[in-house]
This record gives sequence, structure tokens and C-alpha cells, in this order.
Amino acid sequence: LEIELADRKVVSYLIKRFGIHAKHKLGQNFLVRPDVVRAIAEASEIGEGSRVLEIGPGIGTLTQALARTGAEVTAVEIDQSLGRILSHTLELYKNIHIIYDDVLKLDLNKLMGDKEWHVAANLPYYITTPILLHLVQSDLPISTFVFMMQKEVAERIMASPGTKAYGALTLAVQFYCTSEVVMDVPPSSFIPRPAVNSTVLKLVKRDKPAVEVKDTRLFFRMVKMAFGQRRKVFTNAMKAGGISAEQGKEILAACGIDGKRRGETFSMEEFASLADAWYDLIH
Ligand code: SAM
Repeated sequence: LEIELADRKVVSYLIKRFGIHAKHKLGQNFLVRPDVVRAIAEASEIGEGSRVLEIGPGIGTLTQALARTGAEVTAVEIDQSLGRILSHTLELYKNIHIIYDDVLKLDLNKLMGDKEWHVAANLPYYITTPILLHLVQSDLPISTFVFMMQKEVAERIMASPGTKAYGALTLAVQFYCTSEVVMDVPPSSFIPRPAVNSTVLKLVKRDKPAVEVKDTRLFFRMVKMAFGQRRKVFTNAMKAGGISAEQGKEILAACGIDGKRRGETFSMEEFASLADAWYDLIH
């Protein structure tokens, strides 16, 4: 008999029966919304013949929804003590493979090879940004990411120039991916309830970066200068970042950008032209 795991009564029962104490420091908040796990699986564009990596299966609620699409599911869980409950909840599914490890330490290149992968997760909130950056900036063969995350982080990813939420994370993700909101999810959808609102975001890896730059590292160094010194006008932020006043002036002149602006107002295209002007100056 196949029971729906992402259900409040089922999760409460399982937690009691297996004596689970959700570990706050591992970001353990279990989803109890069948429609949400289904929406994540659907947004992941998976089905028979596809491969999906799940980060943090917890007690298996989202894992079940992913497996029901027919895809091959590889789930990476850091908490070995969940093994007992996972082998119970997911025993019916032959297309699920669980690895007990830290997703940031696992050799994903080896795991993924050169096949196409999708990634889905209700992310542990304490390491959302490291996981996002690790995966998005890698050259792993991942085409889509569907992630539940803290609403504020989703807003940072989707932010526009000049807003408070706009920052290095916005540019890092938007450089490599397009993004769209799948749905907002309130705290009442989890056991235990998190202190924050959540959003499911879908990221699709672009065929090539959003802007063409001569040197990606210089692009991200410009971004870092701008947001490391958010309150400084960009001329001063560049100085603080190790670019001489004279070089700074030349770079700004070459792209017709006013150095009295703050870097946080620059669009991705402006960062790209700054990085290319810097490149031209030092090559
Ligand atoms: N997928 C389940 C759900 O939706 O109900 C659980 C999601 S819970 C928000 C996050 C899960 O990630 C927990 O099971 C936690 O143990 C696991 N986790 C935390 N840090 C991890 C890491 N570094 N690598 C892999 N899993 C991790």
C-alpha cells in the first residue's frame, strides 16, 4: 500500500513511532503539504529516464514525490540516524538511492558523470547560500534546480539593481540561471514550524552566461568590490578593492559609468562592461 508521506498525520505518527527529534542545527523542518511536494516534482521537469539529486531527504516526503515521477532519485542526507525511518518510508521504491554524506563534501562530478541531472530540495536553511553557490557556479551537468528556501533568500536572488535585496548572490545566480517563483509556502506547512516564510524557486541553467565577459573572475571581483563596500561610491570601492585611482578613472571612462554611483545600482551589463574595461587595461 502506497501512503502519502507528506501529510501532517502521517509525519506526526512517523516522528513518534521512530522517536525522531528534529535537529534544528541541521535545518530539519519536514514538509507536510502533498500539493507542495508535487509542485516541486512537477517543476523539476523529471520523469522516466531522468536523474534527480535530492539534497536532504529527511524522512522521505519529497523523495517519494520525486520517485513517483519515475525518475531515478539519488538523495544525499547528512544525518545517518534518519536511515532507519527512510528505509521504512521509501522501501517500496526501487528507483531511490540514498547516500549518507554532506552534500558539500560529496564528489558530485564523480556521481553525475556526463549525464544530465536535475536537483530538487527543501534546503536546510543554515547552508542555503553555500549550497546554491556551490552548485550554480560549478560546471556540473545540472539543467534545473527547484529549491525551497527562506523567502528572503529567494527575494535576494530575484532582486533588481538599486534595491536592498540586490547583491552578490543575485548576480551569481542570475549570471548562470534564469529564475522564477513556483510558490510561497507558510511556516504552517512544516513540522516543526520554521521561524520564517519560505519560497519554492525554480532555476534553469542558461546555455551561456547572461552576459558575455572576457574573464569571469574579474566580473565577480568587480561584484565583490561593489557589495563589499556597499555604502561607498564605486570610485572608492574600487580603491578599497586594490584598483589604483588612475586605473579606476580609466575603467569608468571606458564604459561611461559615473564613479559617484554606488556599485549596488549597477546592472549585470554594467558590471560586465566594467570587468571588460579592467581586463583591457591589464592585458
Ligand atoms: N526533504 C525533507 C522534507 O522536505 O520534509 C527534509 C527537508 S529539511 C528542511 C533539510 C534536510 O537536509 C534535513 O533532513 C537535514 O538533515 C539535511 N541536511 C542538512 N545539512 C545537510 C548537508 N550538508 N548535506 C546533506 N543533507 C543535509
